[in-house]
Amino acid sequence: MGDPGRRPQGFRYAFPWVGGPFRVTQGPNGRVSHFGPKGRYAMDIAMPEGTPIIAAREGVVVKTQNSQSGREPNPSGNFVRILHADGTMGVYLHLMRGSVLVTEGQRVRQGQTLAKSGNTGNSTGPHLHFVVQRNVGLALESIPYRFDRPISGLPDFTAGNP
Ligand SMILES: [Zn+2]
Repeated sequence: MGDPGRRPQGFRYAFPWVGGPFRVTQGPNGRVSHFGPKGRYAMDIAMPEGTPIIAAREGVVVKTQNSQSGREPNPSGNFVRILHADGTMGVYLHLMRGSVLVTEGQRVRQGQTLAKSGNTGNSTGPHLHFVVQRNVGLALESIPYRFDRPISGLPDFTAGNP
């Protein structure tokens, strides 16, 4: 009621990978890990390690991590964070070590290759965790988003409460 952050915004995100089709293994409000403000509206998409990850929307790279080899220390693993023109950010998590091709401050266009998918951080199998966030005060908050075409999911894991 009255909070625009709770409704998907107009922008439709391109699939941030090459290949597939892949399926959502955990959707918004997923019980495994998609709760809490930063990740509530994330989607996990299962894909083989090494799948090319591309920008779902144009923007400027604001942060990357490329050197983590396993689960620790960052639960996000290796990642790329891209700031969009409207102030939202797309975040691509659990990437393969050493695969990130973009640097902080770099402008990227939609479809530009960012990295390869992986299984780093708090990840129980090879997948991409893609989330759109915005800054609310000093905190990051996940916001709902939509892809520009349908994606199928595994119903048992796709979760919860739309
Ligand atoms: Zn996830």
